[in-house]
Amino acid sequence: MVYASVRESETMPTIKIDIDKCKGCVLCVEVCPHVLIKQSKEINDQGYQYVVLVDSEEKCNGCTVCAVMCPDMCIEVFK
Ligand code: SF4
Ligand code: SF4
Repeated sequence: MVYASVRESETMPTIKIDIDKCKGCVLCVEVCPHVLIKQSKEINDQGYQYVVLVDSEEKCNGCTVCAVMCPDMCIEVFK
């Protein structure tokens, strides 16, 4: 039975951003090779213009560059 591994391989990599912790420094925006992270027009409780993932075509490859770059560890990568 290989159902578990088949299901895993069908899951596309993605990231989760903790918008409450984000300070809007945009370092992650600058390093994403597919330009998938954008600065929102909204402001979080700390008063920062946080960032969001915009990946309608599921281009995130889980490279983790954005997470490594974030000084506040706001980004978690799922592969
Ligand atoms: S994991 Fe890589 S491809 Fe995905 S959003 Fe972060 S930098 Fe971009
Ligand atoms: S690097 Fe971190 S703190 Fe800076 S904008 Fe990205 S998620 Fe926010």
